[in-house]
Amino acid sequence: MINRKCSFCEASESEENPLIAGNGVYICKNCVTSAYKIMFGDEKNDTKQGDKELLEAVETLMTPKELDNFLGDYIIGQERARKLLSVAVYNHYKRIFKTHTVTDDETEIEKSNILLIGPTGSGKTLMAQTIARVLNVPIAITDATSLTEAGYVGEDVENILTKLLQSADGDIKRAETGIVFIDEVDKIARMSENRSITRDVSGEGVQQALLKIIEGAEVNIPPKGGRKHPNQEFTTINTKNILFICGGAFDGLEEILKRKQGNNVLGFGHDKKTKDEQKPTYDMAEPDDLVKYGIVPELIGRLPIIASLHEISEEDMVRILTEPKNSLVKQYKKLFSIDEVELNFEEDALKAIAAKSIKRKTGARGLRAILEENMIDIMYELPEYCGYEVLITKEVIENGDNPIYIKKSTKKIA
Ligand code: ADP
Repeated sequence: MINRKCSFCEASESEENPLIAGNGVYICKNCVTSAYKIMFGDEKNDTKQGDKELLEAVETLMTPKELDNFLGDYIIGQERARKLLSVAVYNHYKRIFKTHTVTDDETEIEKSNILLIGPTGSGKTLMAQTIARVLNVPIAITDATSLTEAGYVGEDVENILTKLLQSADGDIKRAETGIVFIDEVDKIARMSENRSITRDVSGEGVQQALLKIIEGAEVNIPPKGGRKHPNQEFTTINTKNILFICGGAFDGLEEILKRKQGNNVLGFGHDKKTKDEQKPTYDMAEPDDLVKYGIVPELIGRLPIIASLHEISEEDMVRILTEPKNSLVKQYKKLFSIDEVELNFEEDALKAIAAKSIKRKTGARGLRAILEENMIDIMYELPEYCGYEVLITKEVIENGDNPIYIKKSTKKIA
């Protein structure tokens, strides 16, 4: 048989790579495949693929209860905020994916972005991350204090969308139905007569810049991030269906709420309540109060769902250490078990870790660092304790004592 070759790549004819003959020329299967990709693009980036994913999302959209249950596997307490978030997220995606199933074309359902108010380390970021994970949508997390109006030193507001696009692996359609979480929005409050502590005046400019993308617009972004410059190529992202979740501690909001409460005393019959019942909680916060705090009314108007999270109690800290699906204690236990060491904590040790974290005033965020500090020395020697149980006592946490090592089997001892 004549040894025929592909006229494009010179590959010889074979069973795996057959040739097609033309007028005195040949083309092999590999070159046909490459030519198809060049002419019609890679299927992965084809919009048809995006449409398919959206269709799947319609079918698999979880109910608010299912979303809440999922959040409950990872988030301890914060029941009210979880419920609000589950309903808001369900409505948001229902609005995007399912409105074509009703016949009323005149009523347009507006987007309901969310504001989470709660102290640092109470689970705001974790909630946003968990909801994005369950929905399998991309998420971009950013800090409002790092943002600036275009032209100032810092990150342009549009860069959030670049981050979102990156999180969507460059798939614009997916990015356009993703979630953006902006933390510390309270730190960009404008100067207000109601509070003495605030940052510089530029806060309001950032709020205006944020407003533009939150309310839904076609935004040109530099696909690789960084500053915009005239000769750059842009990608256009439509933010109409992006869910924005803002978070903030809003320190000092109590003062505004107290004043409001004072004005309403008669109306609510507070005279019958005890002093503790009269203490304002962030659950009472309404848009007006946040405007008084220094958030511009237009921005608050775009964040109609307000959910508050509570400071984490010592008891809940202990639960956070042990109960969530990927809790820190479960992670350490797994890490130890690889070396065939059984790790256990006395209840008092867990309480001591919680108490330390409360002292640091970083909410549940401090738990990891405290555990890490205590586990380093133990992990240093871990492989030598194969076949042992390691019991962490209160004294290990409080005084840096050694844990109790209990031999479990006759396995190798160093
Ligand atoms: P925030 O955004 O409110 O400042 P984070 O969500 O970043 O706080 O919380 C920091 C860490 O603390 C989380 O990654 C998680 O490990 C833990 N954490 C905080 N709140 C909770 C909670 N309610 N349930 C479970 N873990 C929590």
